[in-house]
Amino acid sequence: MKKVAILTSGGDAPGMNNAVIAVINSAFSNDMIPYVVYGGFKGLVEGEIKKVEPSDLKAIKQNISRGGTFIYSARLPEFKEEKVREIAVKNLKEKEIEALVVIGGDGSYMGAAKLTKMGIKTIGLPGTIDNDIASSDYTIGYFTALQSITNAIEQIRDTAESHNRCIVVEVMGRYCGDLAINAAIATGVEVLSVPEKYLEEEEIISQVKLRREKHNDRSIIVLVTEHQYDVAKLAKKIEATTGIESRSSVLGHLQRGGVPVSMDRVYASRMGNYAIKLLKEGKYSLAVGIIKEKLVSFDILKAVEMKNPSREGLIQIYKESK
Ligand code: ADP
Repeated sequence: MKKVAILTSGGDAPGMNNAVIAVINSAFSNDMIPYVVYGGFKGLVEGEIKKVEPSDLKAIKQNISRGGTFIYSARLPEFKEEKVREIAVKNLKEKEIEALVVIGGDGSYMGAAKLTKMGIKTIGLPGTIDNDIASSDYTIGYFTALQSITNAIEQIRDTAESHNRCIVVEVMGRYCGDLAINAAIATGVEVLSVPEKYLEEEEIISQVKLRREKHNDRSIIVLVTEHQYDVAKLAKKIEATTGIESRSSVLGHLQRGGVPVSMDRVYASRMGNYAIKLLKEGKYSLAVGIIKEKLVSFDILKAVEMKNPSREGLIQIYKESK
């Protein structure tokens, strides 16, 4: 195999750049010619495919400490249609590119798996802040987002404490509570609701009351994963029921940006390097991960179906340590 392309797809995540850089550098080290695709599958269909020259490497390396993805990301729902993917395959074949490394979440893995069936040798790398890809203990971007959330909660805590308030904070994670659970442990939030341990609104309200009446807390942080509540309405309901002044804060896209922390950079670099090793060995249609500190790979379609291990133990640690 000689030519390999790389793209980033779906939600961007800090550390994606480090994976791209690792794939490019490892490709050169293994006598392959790397190409970058600008703008995910959309760019692939539109022919935004550029050969990386050794003279580009110095500029590319500047992205080692930058958030986002310097080869851009996009969403293209039409990629589910075979005739749209055929254009992408044609664009790759015209340049005699046989292999494609896709950095993204499970939607991107689905796209990659379908390209494999059409003759492109794909490898998936887990790139999402949500940590919701079970074929890796940690996804690229997760550690940085967790740090951003930790910092944000502590800033919110300052004002909540000053004003004797309850603040409902909503974080990302899609249907995975890892960001919320670990941020809760890191900052000692008072009330936590995650998809793995959902609390009815009434339960949240009674826990808030308990924190104020029994534990005498001035600041009460209620931390929830997205897609569960209307947090503005929930804050109003808490205030109306308990008399505790309440506010809400949706952290939003600040969680997706920022300078990647070292762990994201290191994991991304290890996985990027491994992608090239697998291709070199003639292996493809695989999702790369790191489990118990070891590099692993799974059939990419099986990886999409894998379920995260139970978070029961972690949630118990949160409950016992708050
Ligand atoms: P993520 O990869 O972060 O889960 P999305 O679910 O938005 O993000 O998927 C990213 C892109 O992957 C989509 O915009 C689409 O181009 C492609 N994709 C998603 N699901 C499929 C699918 N079932 N078949 C083919 N391509 C898909």
